[in-house]
Amino acid sequence: MEIALIAHDGRKAEMVQFLNEHRETLEKKNIRLISTGTTGEKVKKAGFEVTPMLSGPLGGDAQIAARVAEGKCNMVLFFRDPLEKHPHEPDVLMLMRLCDVHNVPLATNPATADLLIKAI
Ligand code: PGA
Repeated sequence: MEIALIAHDGRKAEMVQFLNEHRETLEKKNIRLISTGTTGEKVKKAGFEVTPMLSGPLGGDAQIAARVAEGKCNMVLFFRDPLEKHPHEPDVLMLMRLCDVHNVPLATNPATADLLIKAI
């Protein structure tokens, strides 16, 4: 199972905290983590194996969206910062739309991500 991790800058600390709280589940052998570039650096520093894509503003969200469309990515945990503007908002919308098109679970905040992780 492939899980994508994305966190906007204002939510990266929360993402690391979330990962630490769910380490046991996320380190299971059948789970593969991918992420956008800068989020991936934080995820690696926290001690997880992760395959980083490009940074979000440079196309990382779009790369993850493509994996969702191709059926390669099975869950997206995307901690968005709703209080900031983002130059790559079109990519963000595309990713969320493709999750809906392909019925891929998408969490946009830690509370929902917590429920999704408990379900796997
Ligand atoms: P980042 O991208 O992990 O490279 O910061 C996240 C995003 O802004 O979509």
